[in-house]
Amino acid sequence: MSSGRLFRNQVVSNELQHKAILVHDHLCTEYGCPIPYFHNLDPLSELVSSLLSHRTKNRDSGKAYNQLRALFPTWEVVRDAPVEDVQQAIAPCTFPETKAPCLKQVLRLITEQRGELNLDFLADLSISEARKWLESLPGVGPKTSAAVLCFSQLRRRALPVDSHHHRVAIRLGLIPAKTAVGPAHALLEAQLPEAWNAQQIYDNHEVLMLHGQRCCYFAKPDCQRCAVLDLCPFGQNRLAESG
Ligand code: SF4
Repeated sequence: MSSGRLFRNQVVSNELQHKAILVHDHLCTEYGCPIPYFHNLDPLSELVSSLLSHRTKNRDSGKAYNQLRALFPTWEVVRDAPVEDVQQAIAPCTFPETKAPCLKQVLRLITEQRGELNLDFLADLSISEARKWLESLPGVGPKTSAAVLCFSQLRRRALPVDSHHHRVAIRLGLIPAKTAVGPAHALLEAQLPEAWNAQQIYDNHEVLMLHGQRCCYFAKPDCQRCAVLDLCPFGQNRLAESG
């Protein structure tokens, strides 16, 4: 048995995996899987997009990304541009004063390490090697490394966990209540069957995120019409307490 398989068996009970699959199936019925991919960017562009999206609404980070692309013809030009110009271009996202120097530093480091601004080589690495390489870059954690591999044209098998996904997973009891978003990535991904393909992993993220956006709200989740109420201890307790 490989060490990866052994670790997986140690941390994921059959019961938890069964529950994760039931949640996935119920929510896929609710939101309609397979979910179309929302991006078709090369991996470097996806990395830039992900870095801009940290703690920013999708609409605002999308605007910042589009402005950056419109004003700078290539990522090399962004790398070499004055930081003030980059900051101005990405002004619609949060913390442009921090993100602009970070972005330029990431582009410089990739150039130093790879000799060019291109991340297509990640397709030839194992998923764990690709994630490790990405997470060695400043500002890149498990969510961003998973987003680059999953959302980009690489279409690889990696599970991003955003704040909606994280909240829903805790309420459903898939992960302990105090689990932070970072460690939640490995725990939730380990619950998904090894045989699932990249589209199924992507669907799992998307349906849990959509559920957080459309039903399991941060304040006042709409438990009475929830498609996974029968699997959710938090929602069942909440409804029982409200009589
Ligand atoms: S039952 Fe309520 S708390 Fe549980 S997942 Fe559904 S909406 Fe969220």
